[in-house]
Amino acid sequence: ALSKVAIVGRPNVGKSTLFNRLVGRRLALVDDEPGVTRDRREGEARLGDLRFVAVDTPGLEEAPEKALEGRMRRQTEKAIAESAVCLFVIDARAGLTPLDETFADLIRRQGKPAIVLANKAEGTAGEAGAVEAWSLGMGEPIAFSAEHGRGMDELYAALEPLL
Ligand code: GDP
Ligand code: MG
Repeated sequence: ALSKVAIVGRPNVGKSTLFNRLVGRRLALVDDEPGVTRDRREGEARLGDLRFVAVDTPGLEEAPEKALEGRMRRQTEKAIAESAVCLFVIDARAGLTPLDETFADLIRRQGKPAIVLANKAEGTAGEAGAVEAWSLGMGEPIAFSAEHGRGMDELYAALEPLL
């Protein structure tokens, strides 16, 4: 079976955009409301010659303060538990927030290897946020753009030895 890779992070950081880039049309379970992921979505992902199952996790954009409550938290914890690796996505333009730290704790508590993607880093936007993300203690953050494809080679290099 293919290893699972969970895409984790607070709402609106770009998780589903990354999922769509990795999975394209090879989607197992589609949510009918774009931009809102209420349940886990899984799909066969391709990155160079790597094959894995990408798992998108919920983000209730309309109620971020409730983001770690109840069903969403359980879904996220289950996705992390089943995964070989987590892609931990932050918004490099916004910088680290307390909610980012909470999601980082979920990953650390399960002892899963994580790759930090400092997303929305186009041009020089997000450079400071990418540097700030070192403080998570999860290794070198990758300046990334799920929308434009920046950082895909670095993601490949980081992910390949973990799968
Ligand atoms: P999720 O809630 O974490 O799944 O985030 P989404 O993938 O739904 O994206 C939230 C918003 O951020 C959308 O408006 C996206 O178009 C935008 N977004 C996602 N990735 C990028 C990126 O790499 N750069 C920029 N500038 N915006 C992005
Ligand atoms: Mg989403």
